[in-house]
Amino acid sequence: MRRDRRGPPAPFVLPPARAGALDPGMFCTSAEGVPGVGGAYALVVELDAPLAVALPGRAAVTLAAGRYVYCGSARGPGGIRARVGRHLKRGKTVRWHIDRLTEAGRVPGVWVFPGGNECALVAALAGWPVPLPGFGSSDCAACSSHLLGWPPGAEAPWGGWR
Ligand SMILES: [Zn+2]
Repeated sequence: MRRDRRGPPAPFVLPPARAGALDPGMFCTSAEGVPGVGGAYALVVELDAPLAVALPGRAAVTLAAGRYVYCGSARGPGGIRARVGRHLKRGKTVRWHIDRLTEAGRVPGVWVFPGGNECALVAALAGWPVPLPGFGSSDCAACSSHLLGWPPGAEAPWGGWR
């Protein structure tokens, strides 16, 4: 007798956030060890309290307390090493929107992808929540946001996490 395979819908499973074409990424908790070359990075930021963030021309959105991943790139002098050093530094002048988060919250570490592309990192996190459309992606046609919410309980997208 054939069993009826129809049943309750399977629970939603986040798609694997591993970028096939990319290096696996190195998880770094300081700028030491980050190569001073161009590339991309996925910065982890933890907010202990809600934070209101306003993008130009848009109403402020309050980011809930929780963990976020910001995907960026650096191709100038010092490359991703210099950029990661800036993100990890406390007391910086707020220049980019991400600076508001890193100053208000904590940065436990960052995955770095020498030679990588930040939009490929965002694509690898497809299915993760977009808390603030347009964040970091105003000049990007491919992504709705370069800031993603880390779903509670979701596995780390790349290796070496903590
Ligand atoms: Zn993008």
